[in-house]
Amino acid sequence: MSGMRPTGRLHLGHYFGVLVNWVEFQSQYDSYFSIVDWHALTTKYENSQEIDRNILEVALDWLGAGIDPDQCTLYVQSGVPEIAELHLILSMLTKQNWVEREPTLKDMVRMLATDEEEAKDKLTYGMLGYPVLMAADILSFKGELIPVGKDQESHLEFARNLARKFNSLYGQGQEIFPEPKPRFTETPLLKGIDGQKMGKSFNNDIKLADTAEDTAAKVKKMITDRTRIAKSDPGHTDLCEVPWPFYNIFLPKESDAWLKVKTECETAQIGCVDCKKNLAVLINEYFAPIRERREKFVKDEAQLYKVLEHGNQKARKVAKATLAQVYEAMKMKNWSLNR
Ligand code: SF4
Repeated sequence: MSGMRPTGRLHLGHYFGVLVNWVEFQSQYDSYFSIVDWHALTTKYENSQEIDRNILEVALDWLGAGIDPDQCTLYVQSGVPEIAELHLILSMLTKQNWVEREPTLKDMVRMLATDEEEAKDKLTYGMLGYPVLMAADILSFKGELIPVGKDQESHLEFARNLARKFNSLYGQGQEIFPEPKPRFTETPLLKGIDGQKMGKSFNNDIKLADTAEDTAAKVKKMITDRTRIAKSDPGHTDLCEVPWPFYNIFLPKESDAWLKVKTECETAQIGCVDCKKNLAVLINEYFAPIRERREKFVKDEAQLYKVLEHGNQKARKVAKATLAQVYEAMKMKNWSLNR
């Protein structure tokens, strides 16, 4: 089980860092991929009007990248209200100091606020409780393997603690919730065209949905080897800030094509302008089928909604069954589910 906030169109960093892994997992596991719109509200509640459009953009990027609704369950978090209900129940079991000591919470507040006063203003009840919501996301589907980066490990520990506490309080020796384990994924650090970490708010990203022309224009601006002044100067791939690391993703190391770029650069057989033109071709070729698949859904929004609604229904069925089991374990009548 994994999710992504709908905060806008996705870039190549999302693709190589997350989506490539998900595409692999969907054929190996019973996978749940959620567009977590309630999580987007924790920091974007003042711009809630943007969320619906962003849900569609993320869904388009996922489908383009190869997330296959026939192989996995692709859904919108708010399309599964049972998650909110489980979140409420789990929040009753959550100690105040559990949420307060979450290391990522401090990072989030630091990102949003410049001083303590502003931090107090920004920190909402919802933001404080987002690890509980994340636990509900995972436990609603009895998620066992959670693809995460190392920096997200604390969230999973949180969900594990909640699962453990629920099981020991109500399980009577039974494991209602399996304890979710991390599946650490490799996230190659993809630089933006300015050499900094790729991020949409830094305006340095290449988006999955960019046209071939936009991509070429962005690649043209990539920072190269700053010590190479003239075309006749030999280049240094180890000092080439952006294009060479990209080549390392798109070309297998030590392959003939990879060696050709390296040799031509280091013997000044090619200038950076032409080298970047070649790179743009490579990127565009790689993403052409992805963009084509995305475009099909752009042109058929009714089909896109159908995919999401179908995914929501599939996810609801599972989350409902989990919730029924939760109420049963708690020896409470499940009034909402009987409706
Ligand atoms: S020729 Fe290519 S690899 Fe070499 S520094 Fe220029 S852009 Fe980088």
